[in-house]
Amino acid sequence: MAEAKYVFVTGGVTSSLGKGIISASLAKLLQARGYSVTIQKLDPYINVDPGTLNPYEHGECYVTIDGAETDLDLGHYERFLNVPTSQANNITTGRIYQTVIEKERRGDYLGKTVQVIPHITDEIKRRIKLVGSRNKFDIVITEIGGTVGDIESLPYIESVRQLKWELGSQNCIVIHLTLVPYLSASAELKTKPTQHSVKSLLEAGIQPEILVLRTEKNITGDIKRKVALFCNVEVDAVIESVDVSTIYEVPLKMLEEKLDQTVLRKLALPVSKEPPLSEWREFLKRLKNPKHFIRVGLVGKYVELPDAYKSIAESFIQSGAVNECEIKVEYIQSEDITNENVNELLRDMKGILVAPGFGSRGIEGKIISAKYARENNIPFLGICLGMQCAVIEFARNVMHLNGAHSTEINQKTRFPVIDLMEEQKSVTDKGGTMRLGSYKCTISKNSLAYKIYGKSEVIERHRHRYEFNNRFYDDFKKNGMIPVGVNPDSNLVEMVEIPAHKWFIGVQFHPEYSSTVINPHPLFVNFIKACIN
Ligand code: GLN
Repeated sequence: MAEAKYVFVTGGVTSSLGKGIISASLAKLLQARGYSVTIQKLDPYINVDPGTLNPYEHGECYVTIDGAETDLDLGHYERFLNVPTSQANNITTGRIYQTVIEKERRGDYLGKTVQVIPHITDEIKRRIKLVGSRNKFDIVITEIGGTVGDIESLPYIESVRQLKWELGSQNCIVIHLTLVPYLSASAELKTKPTQHSVKSLLEAGIQPEILVLRTEKNITGDIKRKVALFCNVEVDAVIESVDVSTIYEVPLKMLEEKLDQTVLRKLALPVSKEPPLSEWREFLKRLKNPKHFIRVGLVGKYVELPDAYKSIAESFIQSGAVNECEIKVEYIQSEDITNENVNELLRDMKGILVAPGFGSRGIEGKIISAKYARENNIPFLGICLGMQCAVIEFARNVMHLNGAHSTEINQKTRFPVIDLMEEQKSVTDKGGTMRLGSYKCTISKNSLAYKIYGKSEVIERHRHRYEFNNRFYDDFKKNGMIPVGVNPDSNLVEMVEIPAHKWFIGVQFHPEYSSTVINPHPLFVNFIKACIN
């Protein structure tokens, strides 16, 4: 089989132009044309992974099946492609340096001065090529985080320059994404920032093959010709990426702009006939023509930055489309919720989701929200910490275990209904040491969860240190909160529900990580259905 071909996606002018969405959209189109594609994200920061970052810094931490804590862009890749990613799909500068320094200590470079070039760049290139060769992909799309010109991304840009040279022009291309701002005072779109940005790439030795221009207004043929002329690219390799109402429309826009065809031509790969993308179009049709409208409350403590709950927000969009329902997610700061104002804050919500999280800030507000949902028979989905809060609430108010808590928050509680997992007790390092990635969950036959999944064995992704304390298992069951999902190997409780309630489910795992456009997660789909009824 032929070697994989490589497409690099860089960004210029500003950050947040949507390199992740462009990469995912291109991958989607190439996949629809029959190519096997994967996407990789290179992050220039020095953390080994984003697991130790506060969500306010970098948005949600996305978790892969193999338990890697990764950049949220990997979530977009999975949602678009419906193909799982892994640790190898996200690389940080921290991880590169860690590997090189370990090799140095082992003596692998004995006698040599270890330097950015070639040692760091070699390690970057090794990891880029590894994704392509390991799973025999036709095309690897590698997105480089940050903006061209950043000090931190220099070794990555240099690695791309070397790879272009080593692999040859038909095996390796660069797409550069820039901003074409609109100046309303002069009613003009401006290309100068793009020209400058391409100049900085050229200074680093890279001539991009394709330019994607992010813009608020449609770009004229004249502008495309001007950019092509100044930046040494072909006119049809200047692609417009105009603002659209949903990210899920971007693949169709890129198809119109022939981004996929241009890429295939540059890589000397055959262009088959245009893919119908029927499932995708059907999804968009449902998304844009809702028959219902509901408000759902998302109770969390990082609500000022919606990116902190990216996968949950996208799961709502996907499950909303299935149910032909427009969902307005109301982000509610859990710190603000009190017994006095909870009714005012939550009464218009058709459903309540209590979000994952860590630490004590805002915890009582989450517990109050779970109580409100339980007492008012409002559909409730508690995810990870959200489930733990529902368990604490039930213990306190139904089982009368006064002061019941999680030992994450109160180590001295008399009723530690949520407690540290046994294997976590000796763990001191914070990075990459939680219960991470996929674990099995066996579901009881007569439960709501069983009805929803339609099977008794599922696999779901995790990211937590604390768990339901099995010492209280029978008590909960007796009082009407049933642990309906359990891990068959460790006996850890994975799901609880209250059969007397209309729809009340808490899950220790994260269904939001595995919800995709083609396969929206059944828990979300059914939760929304219950909210509509
Ligand atoms: N803080 C809780 C734990 O570690 C929940 C984690 C989460 O919500 N992802 O178990």
